[in-house]
Amino acid sequence: MSTITDTTVIGHWIDGAPRASQSGRTAPVFNPATGAVSAEVALADESEIDAAIASAQRGFETWSRFSVAKRQTVLFAFRELLNARKGELAAIITAEHGKVLSDAMGEILRGQEVVELATGFPHLIKGAFSENASTGIDVYSIKQPLGVVGVISPFNFPAMVPMWFFPIAIAAGNAVVLKPSEKDPSAALWLAQLWKEAGLPDGVFTVLQGDKLAVDGLLTDPRVQSVSFVGSTPIAQYIYETASKHGKRVQALGGAKNHMLVLPDADLDLVADQAINAGYGAAGERCMAISVVLAVEPVADELIAKISERIAKLRIGNGAGVDGVEPDMGPLITAQHREKVAGYVDIAEQDGATIVVDGRDFRVEGHEDGFFFGPTLIDKVPTTSRAYQEEIFGPVLEVVRVQSFQEGVDLINSGQFGNGTAIFTNDGGAARRFQNEIQVGMIGINVPIPVPVAYHSFGGWKQSLFGEAKAYGVHGFDFFTREKAVTSRWLDPAAHGGINLGFPQND
Ligand code: NAD
Repeated sequence: MSTITDTTVIGHWIDGAPRASQSGRTAPVFNPATGAVSAEVALADESEIDAAIASAQRGFETWSRFSVAKRQTVLFAFRELLNARKGELAAIITAEHGKVLSDAMGEILRGQEVVELATGFPHLIKGAFSENASTGIDVYSIKQPLGVVGVISPFNFPAMVPMWFFPIAIAAGNAVVLKPSEKDPSAALWLAQLWKEAGLPDGVFTVLQGDKLAVDGLLTDPRVQSVSFVGSTPIAQYIYETASKHGKRVQALGGAKNHMLVLPDADLDLVADQAINAGYGAAGERCMAISVVLAVEPVADELIAKISERIAKLRIGNGAGVDGVEPDMGPLITAQHREKVAGYVDIAEQDGATIVVDGRDFRVEGHEDGFFFGPTLIDKVPTTSRAYQEEIFGPVLEVVRVQSFQEGVDLINSGQFGNGTAIFTNDGGAARRFQNEIQVGMIGINVPIPVPVAYHSFGGWKQSLFGEAKAYGVHGFDFFTREKAVTSRWLDPAAHGGINLGFPQND
């Protein structure tokens, strides 16, 4: 497998094989821990976009005719290969994304859950049958694949997010064109190779490397039937509007600003541990990261002290580990993103917040050019500040002090995002009220990152999801299939009823 990533220009995967790009356009791929450019990634031109979609169309013609049993055999083979070789994929993710190896493995395992769900697809796409719905008439519904489907993914989960979609899309008989993030493009190629080894016909899984040009190609090409997008909110909105205008089915998951509401009765040691895990894991580059701790007074001072103590013990370094020892947290994705995160801490400070732990000047010895940013804790962040209202996507925890449960709920509900949230309490009644009143798609009760299991569905509310369909679970199977209802009568010559021009009635 190493041949794919050894090339200096990371190319596409078209027609079941690596395809070098002729576009002449590339973007750098970094090792975020060292700051060095590890490769260039191809950025597709129009002819490569056309070749990818045309190949997928051919792949669909073949694959959609495969029996359910044959499709299932390929899915099981893919699952077995992934399970056996996932360590290779984790190393690729860490090298390009920067997250620590165990975290890279964690995202693969959560993606693998969806592969496992998809192996049971016959049950989920089998339709329904109503015998003798009207006298002598049977009605049944069948679920058919859409055709070529586009998946556009963000940098922060280069394996898991594509796996939220493609196992179900492929199981249902579609052909997928995946446009990975240009910041970490190699995981997608590894997955493509794995599909090949699992016996998937050529063209059913295609990787198109690129930028806005490739995305716009998928959004506008009439051969592409649907678009599944995950990324930042402004782009999610653009994707939703553009693809919808071109007649496609769209699901577009956007950004987040997730709050953890801490009631005074909560166990503050548990809360501090969970705030650290959910705030600083993957350097805060998770759409389900906790960004805001809403402390219902009088707990804020004690909680801040506990979180600060724990920050001091965190080990930050190269996600690949040094001499077999893995740190807790790796770097951010790019130098530019590090500047953006630092900019938000500057804004909070200018707006009157108190910087309790400052990660802006943090450097890792021996990795001075890496894109590291230290865990940062900010108290008394004004809710009028852009640093509170916007997504930072870095290892920054903001504390906002509130006086009551209701003040906390109102604040969460007033935000533009509605991806995830959590409440920490031992009061079941308060947790139940929170669950009912909060305007957010995914809720944790004493669980800080409530990413639903594969057989439930993933998706937020408000500016965190454009379109009706969430990712995976039953939503996933509905999204990647189109239903037909068939009304059928086998005429009995003895009793067919003769001529009747009235509108058909059921009897
Ligand atoms: P991004 O929006 O910059 O990029 C996502 C994808 O869109 C990439 O493939 C990129 O190439 C493409 N893209 C970027 N700019 C574009 C443009 N102008 N036109 C067309 N396509 C464009 O997001 P990112 O920085 O890669 O990822 C981080 C963001 O993703 C965060 O906002 C995070 O919250 C969000 N995210 C959300 C979820 C979720 O489930 N809601 C999950 C993971 C990440």
